[in-house]
Amino acid sequence: MWFKRDLRVEDHRPLQSAIQQGIPLLLLYIQEPELWADDHMDHRHNQCIYQSLTDINAHLSAFNQRVIVLEGNPLLIFQDLHQRYTIDHVFSHRETGLRQTYDRDIIMSDFFRKASISWMEFQRNGVLRGLKNRDTWRKAWYAYMSDPIDEVDLPQIPNPPKLHNLKEFDWPARIITPKKQIQRIGLKEAQNTMKSFLSARGRHYMQNISKPETSAIHCSRLSPFLVYGNLSIRQVYQASQKQQDFGWKRNMASFRSRLRWHDHFIQKFEMEDRMEFEHVNRGYDNLKKTKNATYLEAWASGNTGYPLVDACMRCLKATGYVNFRMRAMVVSFLTHHLWQDWRWGSPILSKYFLDFEPGIHFSQFQMQAGVTGINTVRMYNPVKQSMDNDAEGVFIKRWVPELSNVPIQFIHEPWKLTALERKFLNLDNAYPDPIIDHVEAGREARKQIWMIRNHPEVREESRRILKKHTLPGRRNA
Ligand SMILES: Cc1cc2nc3c(=O)[nH]c(=O)nc-3n(C[C@H](O)[C@H](O)[C@H](O)COP(=O)(O)OP(=O)(O)OC[C@H]3O[C@@H](n4cnc5c(N)ncnc54)[C@H](O)[C@@H]3O)c2cc1C
Repeated sequence: MWFKRDLRVEDHRPLQSAIQQGIPLLLLYIQEPELWADDHMDHRHNQCIYQSLTDINAHLSAFNQRVIVLEGNPLLIFQDLHQRYTIDHVFSHRETGLRQTYDRDIIMSDFFRKASISWMEFQRNGVLRGLKNRDTWRKAWYAYMSDPIDEVDLPQIPNPPKLHNLKEFDWPARIITPKKQIQRIGLKEAQNTMKSFLSARGRHYMQNISKPETSAIHCSRLSPFLVYGNLSIRQVYQASQKQQDFGWKRNMASFRSRLRWHDHFIQKFEMEDRMEFEHVNRGYDNLKKTKNATYLEAWASGNTGYPLVDACMRCLKATGYVNFRMRAMVVSFLTHHLWQDWRWGSPILSKYFLDFEPGIHFSQFQMQAGVTGINTVRMYNPVKQSMDNDAEGVFIKRWVPELSNVPIQFIHEPWKLTALERKFLNLDNAYPDPIIDHVEAGREARKQIWMIRNHPEVREESRRILKKHTLPGRRNA
């Protein structure tokens, strides 16, 4: 059983199928140095894997089994294992990840075929391989969500083969001891987080979904568990259907739509994974942007002079989380106001996001950058967002402590303070002036984005994208 981003022992068809073989079973996770070298990956993602595997192994100890972690290139690892043990079958979930993982799976498929090993790959979540369009996807998704959870018969799990001379991976100290501010994941946390959301926190879900401070409590916070597979989408979907209490209906309906979006975006990526590297709408290759290292550094470190943007970037760096609206705003600020290419910001944010999921990440980045040609372009005004969603500046003051003494009427626009007030508040040299004028920059960006939207290549590509990625009855994909 080759575990990937499906680190759980319930609702796990590959694991159950492996158990049913009734022959010695090696549970394997491969640490792939080539994958960790990718610009989008960070050791905080590996911490999630460590935590998940630790929980799985604690659970499996009662059944005389555990997941073995080996480090290296999967081809070399499987070649070596095949020599030692003679492998009959390999079971895994099909992965929709970075291009590297797709290429790796092609190589593995070739090796397994030549070595007469049957590789049984199973559908992960509601994402299908080989689709040409979305005509039937929605129906298939709902059918999959209502199928019964796959039982895993752990008491029947076969013993592992004898593990002599296998050099297991030694987890580095920085992986074992994560920072306290970062959400812990794993099987226990997954269950606890889902339970607390569905019994209490989710009651005020929609009311808080856009607010940076309170969304951290009232949103589900389930995304990293879904990314590393501690929970399947189907488990969460079905658990949410059981919440029928008064006042929950609208909240749960919105929540379940987002679970569908989760798979919808991954499906898009599954069908067009070049969007990791290129504009999904090729017409936007005509958009010219010049890299500005000063802007990028100010944005990444939370020093743009726009308090809410800076608070979000610092919060992300420290905790790995901000809510959807704030993610959309920081990407819009980068790509519109600072006029930087989304590809320069994408690895910065993916490293910060604890829940980095390639399928959602690249689609969302391009949507928020306004380069798909099919979605409404949303250019978030960083001052308005601040006034609307952090009116009292609580979130800002938490993450930008330099501004903690600034009166509320200036917290969203501290540059409006007089020189004397700034001096009095010790702001000089402590917090930067805005790196750009957001009104002027927004106006220019809007002009450019609308101009290119009418470019014939953009229009042609938009038609192609709508045909390929749009669900029936919907205009936008
Ligand atoms: C630029 C950008 C990049 C993003 N990158 C990622 C990413 O790498 N991984 C990721 O999981 N989400 C990503 N999102 C989507 C969204 O911001 C997060 O899923 C959400 O904030 C996670 O918090 P939550 O679990 O409390 O969400 P909830 O609001 O509780 O939603 C429940 C679940 O639905 C899914 N979901 C929610 N919103 C979306 C959405 N807009 N699109 C797709 N799925 C959604 C998530 O799995 C989430 O856990 C991104 C959004 C933007 C704007």
